[in-house]
Amino acid sequence: MKKISLIFIILFLFTNLFAKESGGIMDDFKAKQVAEHTWVILGPTGEPSVANRGFMNNPAFVITDKSVIVFDPGSSKQVGEALVKKIRKHTDKPITHIFDSHVHGDHWLGNQGIKKAFPKVKIYAHPVMIEEARAGEAESWIKLMDKLTEGATAGTEAVIPENQLKDGEQIKIDNITIKSHLSEIAHTKTDAMFEIMQDKVLVTGDNAFNNRMPRLDDGSYKGNMKAIDTALALDVSVVIPGHGETGGKEVLTNFKKFLSTIYTNVQSLLNEDMEAFEMKPLIIEKLQDYKNWDNFDGAIGKLISIAVLEVENE
Ligand SMILES: [Zn+2]
Repeated sequence: MKKISLIFIILFLFTNLFAKESGGIMDDFKAKQVAEHTWVILGPTGEPSVANRGFMNNPAFVITDKSVIVFDPGSSKQVGEALVKKIRKHTDKPITHIFDSHVHGDHWLGNQGIKKAFPKVKIYAHPVMIEEARAGEAESWIKLMDKLTEGATAGTEAVIPENQLKDGEQIKIDNITIKSHLSEIAHTKTDAMFEIMQDKVLVTGDNAFNNRMPRLDDGSYKGNMKAIDTALALDVSVVIPGHGETGGKEVLTNFKKFLSTIYTNVQSLLNEDMEAFEMKPLIIEKLQDYKNWDNFDGAIGKLISIAVLEVENE
């Protein structure tokens, strides 16, 4: 009898262990090759949750002739570790550089998982990103992720980038050159977009969204549209947005149209002395092409309020 219960206990522990080991965070998401050296893992487009364990951005990587460059390694230690595993399926080369697009933690808290496997990795970001992360954004994002995922990101610590980028700076890594495009204010005050020169690819961070509603609490409509104009002027053929499917430059024009539709309508409706709540149905009417975007109903009210404030402060 004792022996049998012992066998059951062992079996129980083993299956539980197995259940935990299987079902990795990125298992359902294949790395997609979008150019000769560039790959992206298109994460789900929802908000961080128990179901996605905080993985909901688009981590990308470039395989050079000697090493691997990572862009936006995700929201937690665990997501960063899953990304290393995923990259390992395509190459054995070491990860030597990380570029973080902005201060929102769903894009860069994964630095920790990469750094654990490659302690010498160099991490780059906008100087204001580094400043804001150190001043408390890092800690508040760690708490937010832990709350929204109900502990799936536990143990995540901020590995804040130590290398400050300059606008227009070109960094040569092996046979690949990365050109950074920085804004004063766009999606946030911390945004950098990365042009992978040899591949004609642009990693936009959250300066562009596709099929998912943006957050603009820390940014500006005008600034974001200006950053998109900068992106549109570049000689790129592949655009990797911060969230949602990759594409060509139509990803940029489509998102700019979304922002300008809200902004210009708010401008003219404010001229008619309308309140934000009265504008809402009229603006939704103009955004029919976007009504299937993830979290449309949840986000549109706040986005209109942000536009109202921005127009009033013009
Ligand atoms: Zn963001």
